[in-house]
Amino acid sequence: MGQGPSTSALQQCIQGVANNRAGFAAFAGSPLYQIQWVKPYNLDVLVEPAAVVRPQTAQDISDIIKCANANNVKVQAKSGGHSYQNYGAGGSDGAVAIDMVNFQKFSMDTKTWYATIGAGHRLGEVDKKMHAQGGRAMAHGVCPGVGLGGHATIGGLGPMSRMWGSALDHIVEVEVVTADGKIQRASATQNEDLFWALRGSASGFGVITEFVVRTHPEPAKVVQYEYTIKLGKQADVAPLYSKWQALMADPKLDRRFGSMFIMFPLGAIITGTFYGTQEEFLQSGIPNALPQDGNGHLVLNDWLGALTHDAEKEALYLSGLAMPFISRSLAFKRQDLLGPEKIKDIFNWVDAQKKGTLLWFIIFDAAGGAIEDVPQNATAFAHRDKVMYYQSYGIGLPVTKTTKDFITGFHGQVVQKAGPGTWGTYPGYVNNALVDQQRQYWDSNLPALEQIKARWDPKDLFHNPGSVRPAKK
Ligand SMILES: Cc1cc2nc3c(=O)[nH]c(=O)nc-3n(C[C@H](O)[C@H](O)[C@H](O)COP(=O)(O)OP(=O)(O)OC[C@H]3O[C@@H](n4cnc5c(N)ncnc54)[C@H](O)[C@@H]3O)c2cc1C
Repeated sequence: MGQGPSTSALQQCIQGVANNRAGFAAFAGSPLYQIQWVKPYNLDVLVEPAAVVRPQTAQDISDIIKCANANNVKVQAKSGGHSYQNYGAGGSDGAVAIDMVNFQKFSMDTKTWYATIGAGHRLGEVDKKMHAQGGRAMAHGVCPGVGLGGHATIGGLGPMSRMWGSALDHIVEVEVVTADGKIQRASATQNEDLFWALRGSASGFGVITEFVVRTHPEPAKVVQYEYTIKLGKQADVAPLYSKWQALMADPKLDRRFGSMFIMFPLGAIITGTFYGTQEEFLQSGIPNALPQDGNGHLVLNDWLGALTHDAEKEALYLSGLAMPFISRSLAFKRQDLLGPEKIKDIFNWVDAQKKGTLLWFIIFDAAGGAIEDVPQNATAFAHRDKVMYYQSYGIGLPVTKTTKDFITGFHGQVVQKAGPGTWGTYPGYVNNALVDQQRQYWDSNLPALEQIKARWDPKDLFHNPGSVRPAKK
């Protein structure tokens, strides 16, 4: 166990829980603490937790929570460690980070096809295990290194979400350790209010140790489309974006298709994934609406091949590896999408700016479909009516003021052009510059979340800068 410079009451308490187990905990000030224990994802956001603990059982988590409670220290679970603001490490200094790396249980019930998955799994591992145990699958995002723990509890949007919904729409039941240290189950019939909050806002409500999720048969065939434009001027790409946006916002668009439009320094890329055969893709009519000249091509894949292909493509612009970056995001309802003139203005604005880096990306990601089927108040996730997200990334060593001004300025441009109807974003794409962050993340679900928080965690033990706060009495 790592030793800090002084043995605080918190440290003594956690050492008591460790009971001489090696590799159980380290404390601020230990050698290699940041590199081996905290492992921040965004290197531009410095966070120093008071302790990082790697429990082995739910009872360990319960005991650690009691230590934190007794010492008035905040707590955050850490699963894949891929939060844009390092929320798994607390998001601000002095928390206890509970690293779920040892929670690797996996089983598949071949009658119900429900999978039970330990919260320490990364998405790539979930895919492989589901494939091996019955050729099953669930919806989630593209990066295999993202943790199921932080992903399926905030939303979990990916190319198959228009067909199957978000990752959290697959959760049937969880085991969770709550602020009083109790190990509980939550589902539609047990601790229902907590279950509601955990699906979209779990970081403020507990530490989930395992998920029970429903699964689907893997699609046998997947068609992957990619179109690259290397123009160097964004203004020339604006009409193409408008056309792509119109396709993706069409309520009748085949749900088997998910797509992204990515602006990058040399031009733009459109990626698309269709879950079906090439014949079905042709019959869907989608190819006619996508650019088809020599810059576009199709790849045919099976399910695991398609996941690998998506991850490889994503890694070209958004690495799973730690780096210093600034990021912003915004969500759009169908009626608030930007029209062609405003799109042209914004793309022109991008051309005119100094970026301060060659590593910047603006990703437009289509949603809607099955995500929209679920009522807004069915889970804490509040973006059922959003059909498009934008996310920006400015990466640098370090991130310069010029890069920060560009990314912040782009957000300002979009907000100004979009008008008052457009606000809020998906909390998985953390935008810590938003005014009244919690309102923008959870919208009309926030008052109910604050009440549930007051019931389950009145002292706000589970806390990061963007998490739900308890309702005031
Ligand atoms: C490279 C990259 C690609 C991404 N792609 C997508 C994408 O395609 N779609 C998408 O929707 N999102 C995507 N995201 C966002 C990602 O879903 C969120 O950042 C997510 O919260 C990360 O989860 P984590 O477990 O890896 O992170 P962590 O930093 O470990 O956790 C993030 C937050 O979740 C909480 N949490 C983690 N585990 C638990 C648990 N067991 N119980 C309760 N709370 C928990 C933490 O306390 C923390 O507040 C991406 C992020 C990155 C960095």
